[in-house]
Amino acid sequence: MSIERIAVIGGGTMGNGIAHVCAQAGRHVTLVDTEQDLLERALNTIFKNLDRQVKKEIISAGEKDETVNRISTTVDVEEGVEEAELVVEAVPEKIALKEKIFRTLDESAPTDAILATNTSSISITEIAAFTHRPEKVIGMHFMNPVPVMKLVEVIRGLATDDVTTRAVMDLSRELGKTPVEVNDFPGFVSNRVLMPMINEAVFALMEGVADAEAIDTVMKLGMAHPMGPLALADLIGLDICLSILEVLHRDLGDDRYRPCPLLRKYVAAGWLGRKSGRGFFPYEA
Ligand code: NAD
Repeated sequence: MSIERIAVIGGGTMGNGIAHVCAQAGRHVTLVDTEQDLLERALNTIFKNLDRQVKKEIISAGEKDETVNRISTTVDVEEGVEEAELVVEAVPEKIALKEKIFRTLDESAPTDAILATNTSSISITEIAAFTHRPEKVIGMHFMNPVPVMKLVEVIRGLATDDVTTRAVMDLSRELGKTPVEVNDFPGFVSNRVLMPMINEAVFALMEGVADAEAIDTVMKLGMAHPMGPLALADLIGLDICLSILEVLHRDLGDDRYRPCPLLRKYVAAGWLGRKSGRGFFPYEA
């Protein structure tokens, strides 16, 4: 069973990338957001990213046009998902919002459609319980930037069935990605391993073990990481890192996940990383 019609809910950082890679792999995509100008902004980003791929000779100009033509947009969620075989939700990381969206998706999408979420930290099992089809709810955790990053962490909720998992693993490969199947546990694998490393780097900074530049250089040159943990935290957003650490701390109930006070202080100051022009490192406005 091949999935041909995909709806993506939310055209922000992740949603426009997900729409891009699905359309590029020949799927018909409906992109849904709350306002027309947000949809136009998402389409503009997709155009720019496709242009870059044309310049790098990854795709031809013809493939770019075909990709764009496979994407339609709407501000009406019900209409956007009514023919979807797969819905990928990529709205902000707020449980109340995800609940509202999944209740709507459950009512409006065909009964056999798979409902996937790109959440970084919310339990798939909990999201699945908002629907009457928990066996068809799954995590499809793409990485940023979606057109570039190879991984899709495929997360099975408690009730997710084998047919759903296989369909999503197969589709991810057809999108040119490498899917890895994991079980639903706080932070899954990616953030369960990454966030404590970032947090430890912030503790090292706070305790004066070394300055930010030195900490990142040790990890880049010594551990062959392409980027240091503090620069990576700045890229992800320090507020996002803090909220994921809070989820790990609360849901695993272990103090080893307690967010570093210096991380809290930076977030309180509005030093959120690249997006605010300042985090552990300064950035051009
Ligand atoms: P974002 O804020 O960039 O985009 C969210 C989009 O959803 C916005 O365009 C917003 O207008 C839209 N939206 C809000 N409410 C909506 C609604 N009711 N219906 C339709 N659209 C709605 O967020 P993002 O960074 O793309 O994150 C989306 C999800 O992906 C989150 O769950 C996040 O945890 C996860 N995620 C993010 C990253 C990352 O690096 N940004 C990486 C992996 C996973």
